[in-house]
Amino acid sequence: MISPKQAVEFATKRFPKAPEELAAHLGISIRESSMDGCDGWCLTNGKQVIIRLNTSLSPTRKRFTLAHELGHLILGIPAIVGESYEDMLASDSDEERRVNELASALLIPKDVAKASLSELPVVAAALMKLAKKANVSQLMAAIRVCNLASEIGLQNASVVLFDGSQVRWQWSKTLTMPNETAADLLVESRKAVPQAFRRRRPQGDVIVASTIENPYFGSATLFVQLLPEEIGLNISHHEKRKQLELTLFSHDVKLQQRMSGYIGALKNRIEGKTQKQVEADFWTRYRETLKNTAMDSNTGQAYVRLRISEWF
Ligand SMILES: [Zn+2]
Repeated sequence: MISPKQAVEFATKRFPKAPEELAAHLGISIRESSMDGCDGWCLTNGKQVIIRLNTSLSPTRKRFTLAHELGHLILGIPAIVGESYEDMLASDSDEERRVNELASALLIPKDVAKASLSELPVVAAALMKLAKKANVSQLMAAIRVCNLASEIGLQNASVVLFDGSQVRWQWSKTLTMPNETAADLLVESRKAVPQAFRRRRPQGDVIVASTIENPYFGSATLFVQLLPEEIGLNISHHEKRKQLELTLFSHDVKLQQRMSGYIGALKNRIEGKTQKQVEADFWTRYRETLKNTAMDSNTGQAYVRLRISEWF
């Protein structure tokens, strides 16, 4: 077996396919079958190690389960038979927490998280982007970032999962709050969309709260962070972009689709150019066709500038 440190190094090199490739590297067979009330387990059959996954799981949940079972094997902590996703995530057992810590490092290595969240505060859109890049659930990405809080520059952080408006559980060893406070932050963060909600505290820091909505399951994931005032009050790139999109496209979805086509086409032609040149190219090419639309404005120009800046 490989050491936890080696496993994390492997994951950093192989992101985002580390769990699958690590299993192959270690000669572990992955099998799928239908299971009732259990997401996965591992067993050693003589020399052969087999990880069995519930075939009906969503792809991201399957990957988490695979990483979790690898965590058990690598740390030498016996797996609990019949574990479900909820059992794994919400467990208070110290051993399960260690397993999850390693599993999440395999899915989202620290360096990847740091590079992807260089801008603070961390808002829902940034967590969703990280989740997509890492091919994990949005909840998983939020939990990982919460665990890395101090290492990415947050004073503290917590993730709260809601069923409707009820707190299901809070994930943080270091930042806990009464359920009423969490519920209040959920309401406030929804009102503040497209921005995150900010609340200054007398201690001189700022609470920033942002929500990932999951209407399909009637649930929501609230990400709460504590930041020094000068950082907490900073409006992030994601917030600016959402604000501009709301102003420009809330009454014109077709314009947003057209813009996404134009900007996408531009991306293939940026090599060797400066940001300013790309911006000028955009307007040379599309000024005429965008005349008399919402894009024909200072807000439109700011939006193009912001989108192009994402490539530099
Ligand atoms: Zn476990």
